[in-house]
Amino acid sequence: MLSQPQTLDALVIGAGPAGLGTALALAAVEDLTFGVLERGQIGQTFLDWPAKQTFLTPSFTGNGFGATDLNAIHPDTSPAYSLGVDYPTGPQYAKYLRSVAQHFRIPVLAGVEVTSVARHESGFEVQCTKGPVLARSLVWAGGEFHQPVEPRIVGSVLTERASSTEAWQPRTGNLVVIGGYESGIDIACHHVERGARVTVVDGSAPWKNGSGSDPSFRLAPRSRIRMSAALDSGRLSLVEAHATGVKRAGDEWAVSLGNGKKLLADSPPIAATGYGPGLGAVEAYFARREDGWPELDDDDQSTLAPGLFLSGPAIRHGGLKFCFVYKFRQRFAHIARVIGERAGTDVSGLESWRAAGMLTDDLSCCGVECAC
Ligand SMILES: Cc1cc2nc3c(=O)[nH]c(=O)nc-3n(C[C@H](O)[C@H](O)[C@H](O)COP(=O)(O)OP(=O)(O)OC[C@H]3O[C@@H](n4cnc5c(N)ncnc54)[C@H](O)[C@@H]3O)c2cc1C
Repeated sequence: MLSQPQTLDALVIGAGPAGLGTALALAAVEDLTFGVLERGQIGQTFLDWPAKQTFLTPSFTGNGFGATDLNAIHPDTSPAYSLGVDYPTGPQYAKYLRSVAQHFRIPVLAGVEVTSVARHESGFEVQCTKGPVLARSLVWAGGEFHQPVEPRIVGSVLTERASSTEAWQPRTGNLVVIGGYESGIDIACHHVERGARVTVVDGSAPWKNGSGSDPSFRLAPRSRIRMSAALDSGRLSLVEAHATGVKRAGDEWAVSLGNGKKLLADSPPIAATGYGPGLGAVEAYFARREDGWPELDDDDQSTLAPGLFLSGPAIRHGGLKFCFVYKFRQRFAHIARVIGERAGTDVSGLESWRAAGMLTDDLSCCGVECAC
């Protein structure tokens, strides 16, 4: 790819599910020139996941009946089928991503980090560790995993991030987890299942039922089942209060709470306080919404730099969050279609994505609640 001096129609940065999925959709458009740059290996984030972490969205081979595997990034693939598991580990999912890239011959250049991006009238000049690349459109798919949000509390440096390997090492005695949504409940159950006594603190109590059916706002059934077993063991406590500070207290860690109480832990508290949008080299090209997430137009394009698209879990439209694979994959083919139409090429190959339930153009249809 880099040996060619021409300007690509599209360049994708990041070879996770979002970047590869968008590249697969670009491959379905006639005559587009495109490529993917990846600083690590294909699926690097999943290779970096703590060993005990697994997907919480189940994989199942329903493709033949129009129910494409929730974790698939191409309509004709299924991690459940190729891996033979329903809740893939990180390395298993990375294997699926590698095999998809290989099967569909997606041009991925691995081991190449994008360090800066300049915008020109005709597109973008991307500087990477192998030199410059020119592209008319750019798709940022750098992911969120490299930008965990630290708790905004005094002593946050004393906490360990839930995404770190250390946080998953065996713990004895009392442990405090700050943050009670998926990652917090996941790691809390992990330690309860191995004998620790864990208190999860979160002022918004995400473990409660909530009003909607959207998994972006409600714990997944699998997490609820594990949480229920952990509560039955007597070693899990859920406290509806914000953590306000952490400090050392002799051999222990003291976590102060907004309700005036204090919890003592025998090892560093674990922060499961979410992830930022991870915009890296294109950060300056996105305006921000009031809630801090990138402002996008209806085509998932930057409002400041047309031609720059965002693919992946940081996509937000109104109150909709696209933070799971089965959600953000709805936009791969849409982005590819916008790029293809601008290039004046045939985009009809993307209709099979729509037929497989993997192309949403009209965002007003998202967010429907289950009746029961
Ligand atoms: C702990 C955790 C658990 C999750 N569990 C689920 C789940 O069960 N089901 C689900 O659907 N979703 C889940 N998600 C959400 C989502 O699926 C993942 O975040 C997923 O990794 C997002 O895919 P992505 O392609 O956007 O990012 P990533 O998989 O992180 O891929 C981004 C890639 O970009 C590369 N990159 C970054 N910057 C550069 C650069 N400057 N130059 C070149 N390359 C770069 C990285 O090396 C990486 O390979 C989870 C997220 C987290 C954090």
